[in-house]
Amino acid sequence: MQESFPDTLIDRFQRRVDYVRLSVTDRCDFRCVYCMAEEMTFVPKRDVLSLEELQQVGQAFSELGVRKIRLTGGEPLIRNNIMSLVTELGQLPGLDELVITTNGSQLQRLAPELREQGVKRVNVSLDSLNPRKFRHLTRHGNLDQVIAGVDAAVAAGFERVKINAVILKGRNDDEVVDLVEFVRSRAIDLAFIEEMPLGNIVEHDRELSFCSSQELRDMISARYPLQAEGEPQGHAGPARYFSMRDSPSRIGFISPHSENFCHQCNRVRVTAEGRLLLCLGAEHSVDLRAVLRGPGYSLARLKHSIVAAMDIKPERHYFDNRGEPEIVRFMNMTGG
Ligand code: SAM
Ligand code: SF4
Repeated sequence: MQESFPDTLIDRFQRRVDYVRLSVTDRCDFRCVYCMAEEMTFVPKRDVLSLEELQQVGQAFSELGVRKIRLTGGEPLIRNNIMSLVTELGQLPGLDELVITTNGSQLQRLAPELREQGVKRVNVSLDSLNPRKFRHLTRHGNLDQVIAGVDAAVAAGFERVKINAVILKGRNDDEVVDLVEFVRSRAIDLAFIEEMPLGNIVEHDRELSFCSSQELRDMISARYPLQAEGEPQGHAGPARYFSMRDSPSRIGFISPHSENFCHQCNRVRVTAEGRLLLCLGAEHSVDLRAVLRGPGYSLARLKHSIVAAMDIKPERHYFDNRGEPEIVRFMNMTGG
C-alpha cells in the first residue's frame, strides 16, 4: 500500500516549515575570519551528498510543502556542475522560490545562467569596500571580483539582489554607512547579520567584536533616517527591515542575539554531508545520507524521515553567550 504524506510540515510548536537551506559543499575559496579557521579540514568528498542526492532531498521537501530552497555552503558556486542541480531544482513544480547565497567570486560568470534557470534572488556576502580590509576579513577574497559579481547580478535582472554583511567592532564598523551608500547607488538591499558563536575561531574575540543591530541602526539613522517596516512575515525570514525616504533600498538587521525570532522559525537546514539540522543553534539532527545510501532507498523513505524529524525541532536556540562557541561546527557546514 502506498504511504500517504502530509502536504505541509508542522513541528510540535505549530510552526510551519516551508523553507530549506541546502549546503551543497563545505568547501570555499574564501576563509572569512568569523566563519572558518585559516587551516580547515574539509569533509572527504565521498561523504558529501552527490548532486543526484541533493536533487532527491530538494524533491522530497518540495513534495512535503516546502516553498523555498536556498542553495548555500561553503561556496555553492564553486561546486562542480552546480548548474545541473540548479536546473533540476528550478523545475520542481511545488517550489515558489529557488534562491542562493554566495560570496560573489563566481557571480560575474554565472549570474546570467542562474537567472535563466529560475533562480529568483541572490544574496551576496560583502563586509568591506576597502580592498585591503576585504582581503583581511576573507583571507583570500578579491574585492573587485566580488563587486563585478554584484554588478553582474544587478544586470541579470534578479527579482532581488541583497548584500549580507557581518560587522565586527574595530574591523569594519567604520564602513556601515559606506555599505548603505553602496546599496543605495545600485538600488539593492542590505542585511546586517550579528556574528553567531559557531565554530571555534581564534582570530578575534567574539565578545569584544560584537556589534548589536541597535548600534548599527543608530549609526545609519544619523545619516539616513530609517523607517521600520513592521514584523517580518512569511518568507522574509528573521530580518527586520527598514526603508529610507529617498531610496528603494531596504536595510535589514538579523539579530539572533539581541532580538530572538525563534517563535516564527519556518526553516531547517541540510548540511553538506546530508545531516538535516532542525535548528542552527542546536545539535538536533537526522542523518538523511544514511537514508539516501541505505538499502532499498526510495523517495518515500526519505520523506518519511523528514516528516518524523519535525518532532525533534527545538523550541529555540540559546545563543546567549557571545564569546564561547556553543556549537562546534563551523558555519560553512550549515550554510548560515
Ligand atoms: N559562501 C557563501 C557566502 O559567504 O555568502 C554562503 C555560505 S556563508 C556560511 C552564509 C552566510 O553566513 C554569509 O553571509 C556569512 O557572512 C554568514 N556567516 C558565516 N559565519 C558567520 C557567523 N559566525 N556569524 C554570522 N554570520 C556568519
Ligand atoms: Fe566562505 Fe561564505 Fe564562510 Fe566566507 S562566509 S568563508 S565566503 S562560506
